[in-house]
Amino acid sequence: MSTRKIAVIGIGKISQDQHLPVIRKSDRFELAATVSGRGVASDGLPVFRTAGELYRSLPEVKLVAICTPPSVRHAYVREALDAGCDVLMEKPPTPTISELNDLVSYAEAKGRVLFQTWHSRYNRAVDRARDVLAADGVRSVRIDWRESVRKWHPGQDWVWEPGGFGVCDPGINALSIFTKIMPFPVFVEKADLKFPSNRGTPVDATIRFKSGVIDGPEMSAHFNWLEETGEVWTITIETGRGETLALEKGGTVLKIDGRTEVEAPSEEYERIYEHFAQLLDDKRSEVDGSPLLLTADAFLLGARENTDAFEW
Ligand code: NAP
Repeated sequence: MSTRKIAVIGIGKISQDQHLPVIRKSDRFELAATVSGRGVASDGLPVFRTAGELYRSLPEVKLVAICTPPSVRHAYVREALDAGCDVLMEKPPTPTISELNDLVSYAEAKGRVLFQTWHSRYNRAVDRARDVLAADGVRSVRIDWRESVRKWHPGQDWVWEPGGFGVCDPGINALSIFTKIMPFPVFVEKADLKFPSNRGTPVDATIRFKSGVIDGPEMSAHFNWLEETGEVWTITIETGRGETLALEKGGTVLKIDGRTEVEAPSEEYERIYEHFAQLLDDKRSEVDGSPLLLTADAFLLGARENTDAFEW
């Protein structure tokens, strides 16, 4: 099987935890270089301070994975498309809807593949939950997504800057599962956002959703970023048949009425790169903005409350 040369742009936590190791063991991709403002190389391969230097120096590299914070991603993706590259984008894609729409049309105009990843969707338990809900319907949904920002984003000040999403950076992972498994469209009805008094993004969010029908199911979410007792990444659904379906551990475990139905090791990024290889073979883009739309709507409708200052 032939491999494609790929470069990774932005060598922070997720590149080092997932992208580089998964590319290293993939039989479909071959790491060619990194682009890192701080000069972080991998396996002795070339490292460039800017993406422009990569495109000039290694014109044979026609694939990039862009793993920067979302605030700067639009310009990086456009630059990559201009250089004739196909592009994989980390989540969340962009800080605004208009930037995402622009990237979709720009990739199409350039005839390039643009792939938006939502890593939490790449779990068998999530696929099974979607199938159960399609067959049985939904009576209620409750999302509880709590983790420690100090553990998962140590020292990353960008998460607290406008466009950094705050607690909606992990929360959007829950919404990426929610939008994948629901058998009907969902909308934000109400949101309450708590901002640390010294920061530009929320540390806590409570969201109520609605469906398109009167007296539809009750659906709500709570995201919190100061949970120090371990992660709670759970979606609990009462199905139309009255069963309780629990997606736990970020979508890797599915329980129905307490029985474990699916429990698989997390191989989200392995599946992301397998899917990217397929999209490239098919010359097909895949961008689903629905988790970003719900997040943006929560910010549009969100009532703001100031809370305790946050320090690392
Ligand atoms: P990070 O550790 O801060 O790394 C981001 C890297 O992007 C930086 O180290 C820097 O690398 C580069 N960069 C380029 N422009 C930047 C700018 N203006 N500000 C800050 N960094 C800039 O962040 P991360 O946790 O890897 O997250 C990156 C993306 O992956 C985010 O969209 C995040 O939501 C997503 N993600 C993160 C996780 C996680 O567990 N943390 C999980 C899944 C997805 P160089 O110095 O090498 O250029």
